[in-house]
Amino acid sequence: MTGMDDFRSDTVTRPDAAMRAVMASAAVGDAVYEDCPTTHRLEAMAAERLGKEAALFFPTGTQSNLAALMAHCGRGDEYLVGHKAHTFLYEGGGAAVLGSIQPQPLPNEPDGTISLAAIEDAIKPDDFHHARTRLLTLENTFSGSVLDPAYLEAATGLARRHGLGTHLDGARLMNASVATGCEADVLARGFDTVSLCLSKGLGAPVGSVLAGPRDLIQAARRLRKMLGGGMRQTGILAAAGIHALEHNVARLADDHARAARLADVLAAFLELGSGPAQTNMVFMTPVAIDVDAFRRFLADRGIAVGGRYGNLRWVTHLDVDNASVDRVQAACEDYFSGDGPH
Ligand SMILES: *Cc1c(COP(=O)(O)O)cnc(C)c1O
Repeated sequence: MTGMDDFRSDTVTRPDAAMRAVMASAAVGDAVYEDCPTTHRLEAMAAERLGKEAALFFPTGTQSNLAALMAHCGRGDEYLVGHKAHTFLYEGGGAAVLGSIQPQPLPNEPDGTISLAAIEDAIKPDDFHHARTRLLTLENTFSGSVLDPAYLEAATGLARRHGLGTHLDGARLMNASVATGCEADVLARGFDTVSLCLSKGLGAPVGSVLAGPRDLIQAARRLRKMLGGGMRQTGILAAAGIHALEHNVARLADDHARAARLADVLAAFLELGSGPAQTNMVFMTPVAIDVDAFRRFLADRGIAVGGRYGNLRWVTHLDVDNASVDRVQAACEDYFSGDGPH
């Protein structure tokens, strides 16, 4: 929505002139033939940043997660996953539908962790009555929340002691890295594979990368082809990803500061259901107002907000600025002073 203050998601960012320029001049070749120099450059850069042997470019985070799950698990295997995790709840059930992988959902704590006791308890003994427990997946950030690095180490250590593989859905791992001051490779260290979205806060128009050991990435390459993700002159997209990794990581701190300010602005008018901002996200479950009327009022003022089912989700990113937050404040003042419909 051009011209809006669009807080629905950090996926709405549009490439700026500098990013479009590197895309326009990118050296390209056929990436299925492994012939695309710019794609290779992005993959090498991602592998290095994430501390893994190899990396592979994907059209979406959903496909990179699915290829990872299928590289770790075969038909009839099982993966342990949070009941509110993206791979379980928001990827169309792909692991089960396309991978024949049984999800074993476990309760996500409000901070995005799964208790170590719950993980240990869910690992099935080697018994033909059970699916084979093969993999633990975690997500960081989880609804904007950063997982404690000590927890990541404990959970991945536990998985390893039981012979499980580990996958990190790190769609917004760079937000976690900037928020904690821990490098991404440190946050990804305990995991075999990690998926990172370039198309969210990092501002690329398309793309994710999956990083991991060479053998799993080779398996993921075959799966990517099977899933229809073997794209050709991807250098044009990879160039945007390289630009994003070079220019748009440290600035995520601005998004986090802006989300904190937005939470303060909103808290003056409304209860924040789930506390203050977490990295670049603010969640609200407003009970005292008509959420749909409030959303419509904001939309009339050029402010778009995400969330569904009575929740509001505000996400900060490259394409909203301090003036956007000022306009939210002015809109709230009008709405709650009686100038707006309640
Ligand atoms: C966005 C997201 C993905 C992948 O989404 P795509 O839209 O398929 O790129 C995966 N996991 C999490 C946590 C996400 O937020």
